[in-house]
Amino acid sequence: MFSGKSEELIRRLRRAEIAGQRVLIVKPGIDNRYDISHVVSHSGVKMRAIGLGGAADIVRFAEGYDVVGIDEVQFFDEDVISVCLDLADRGVRVIAAGLDTDFRADPFGPMPGLLARAEFVDKLQAVCHRCGGAATRTQRLVDGAPAPFTGDTIQVGALDAYEARCRRC
Ligand code: ZN
Repeated sequence: MFSGKSEELIRRLRRAEIAGQRVLIVKPGIDNRYDISHVVSHSGVKMRAIGLGGAADIVRFAEGYDVVGIDEVQFFDEDVISVCLDLADRGVRVIAAGLDTDFRADPFGPMPGLLARAEFVDKLQAVCHRCGGAATRTQRLVDGAPAPFTGDTIQVGALDAYEARCRRC
């Protein structure tokens, strides 16, 4: 978190647009209906995206596009792996951005399968909120204190916060 994933995704997709390619951006939606929203980076850069209920919907919407960007890919179900592979096999350039680990530092959802199959992987680092070092972890805070290890991975509507942390912190 806070490593600039969305900003990097937007940067690459904008370059593809400038090159005249047809670019689609999708992200997990709030519910099963699709909606028009945006991919927004922490610095405020944004790009229009379609929120989708499940990975299977990506195939339907990707028809006719040269490049498909997927933001917050860790929240999609495992099917997103075969969807990405199918699109890539058809010649579509797939750029997926997501958190590799959850707040426990365990692999997040479909990320291991995606990381293993991708041609190129870039791991971005944030800045540790505590010491200023290179952060590779996400610390969940509930009421300002570290969340229990046993907490749910995704707490919808919970009043929690996240901070970037290095291994040591
Ligand atoms: Zn630190």
